[in-house]
Amino acid sequence: TRSTRPQRLLKAVRKRATQGDPQSVISAIDHFCRHSEWAMNVGDEKGSILDSVVSELNPEKVLELGTYCGYSTVRIARLLPPGARLITLEFNADYAAIARQVIAWAGLEDKIQLVEGASEDWIPRMKEHFGIETFDFVFLDHWKHRYLPDTKLMEDCGLLRKGTVLLADNVICPGVPDYLEYVRNSLSYKSCYFKSHLEYTKAEDGLEKSVFLG
Ligand code: SAM
Ligand code: MG
Repeated sequence: TRSTRPQRLLKAVRKRATQGDPQSVISAIDHFCRHSEWAMNVGDEKGSILDSVVSELNPEKVLELGTYCGYSTVRIARLLPPGARLITLEFNADYAAIARQVIAWAGLEDKIQLVEGASEDWIPRMKEHFGIETFDFVFLDHWKHRYLPDTKLMEDCGLLRKGTVLLADNVICPGVPDYLEYVRNSLSYKSCYFKSHLEYTKAEDGLEKSVFLG
């Protein structure tokens, strides 16, 4: 049977990237997506905005919602300080299997915990299961109808502290109107938009950065 896109993406990583070199893994995936097949990674353009937010924050506890092939996972983890921990959630077992191999190729297994399952099931178990007090940084990039309910769930589970930064991808394309309405109007957040383009295209898209004020 024909291979899947994530399998072909992994093959491109193995062919073009150097083991243990996260930047070469990122470049190999971007090259594959620009020249062979589009894929739903945050991509290089929004990726550089993601990089600046992570670098500025220097977070120790990070949650990512939506791993896919591990592109943004590698992107974030490569910038984390020693001892920092990134938990990434993915409910598609085939994608998770590819992501594990991409993460291993980048040599970042020590910093990353890939958890298979649905965000709505795992968020309430973060404290007991992973000993997490609160997250410093959360990257939201899973299915768009889950951004708002999962944000409220993180609030209710006490996973956000004063100063926790939420960064949400694809707030224009495909768009998350209910989430934007919430973070932009709630007194519990200070929110701003970073204009950019949908991964590997010229269509407008952007990231919304929302600081939880407690
Ligand atoms: N963050 C990745 C990157 O930039 O490289 C891309 C993630 S992709 C846009 C979204 C992923 O979220 C998909 O792989 C999908 O299977 C996963 N997903 C969607 N809803 C989810 C949920 N409720 N819990 C866990 N994973 C979910
Ligand atoms: Mg995205």
